[in-house]
Amino acid sequence: MKLLGAHVSAAGGVFNAPANAHAITANAFALFTKNQRQWAAKPLEESAIVAFKARCQQYGFSSDAILPHDSYLINLGSPESEKLEKSRTAFIDEMARCQQLGLHLLNFHPGSHLKKIGEPECLSLIAESINLAHEAIPNVVAVIENTAGQGSNLGWRFEHLAEIIDQVADKSRVGVCIDTCHTFAAGYDLRTEGSTAATFDEFDQIVGMTYLRGMHLNDSKGKLGSHLDRHHSLGQGEIGWDCFRFLMEDSRFDNIPLVLETIDPEIWQQEIAQLRSFIPKSA
Ligand SMILES: [Zn+2]
Ligand SMILES: [Zn+2]
Repeated sequence: MKLLGAHVSAAGGVFNAPANAHAITANAFALFTKNQRQWAAKPLEESAIVAFKARCQQYGFSSDAILPHDSYLINLGSPESEKLEKSRTAFIDEMARCQQLGLHLLNFHPGSHLKKIGEPECLSLIAESINLAHEAIPNVVAVIENTAGQGSNLGWRFEHLAEIIDQVADKSRVGVCIDTCHTFAAGYDLRTEGSTAATFDEFDQIVGMTYLRGMHLNDSKGKLGSHLDRHHSLGQGEIGWDCFRFLMEDSRFDNIPLVLETIDPEIWQQEIAQLRSFIPKSA
């Protein structure tokens, strides 16, 4: 089954996210479990946890269909020790919040070297950060998002993702979220069904499809290889619809959250309907 949704608002409390997702006919969603632009957050209140779980059950969202996203401030590959410590502490807190909410996936951006250390060193720091989080919190899968490769962000080449996974001790608790906008901006073509197939063949060879635990479905304002992280509504950017039709027709993308982070929430419901129209009747 295709699990389609969007990164919905959790304003007012995490328990509002499931209703916001249901309102746009989603059967999957992403959310921030705290303010994504702040380091510190109050612990989740027991009543909020209970309400979140009740609403997920009410609307039929299993934890497989929910892909929480961590704070933008966290850099698990930071070359600055103080910043690295702060990031690791914050990441463990994010994982703990997921666990409290009954969620088992946590999507994050791998990190950046800020031109102060080399790529291999930075990738090793990221893997070590994941290992530390695994030791601190059971059950939650660290889902590494590929990036557009803007600035000194790593994770834009499939080899970076493979390199990180290779150094993670518990392979059962590491996965990947492929963001179509980031993939395209990083230089992997997705403009036709053929190029999309080739890109995922390459992903399968280098990383492995078994590690794919979620996707962000976004069109791109930036051109192929532009390294610009600028999302667009589906079909309105440089990628176009063929890529998304391909994903809907291919069963390798079943049963993982496929989440819109497109720029116009007003048309999320239409985008989901269009995606569903591509799913073969036999599926
Ligand atoms: Zn992201
Ligand atoms: Zn994304």
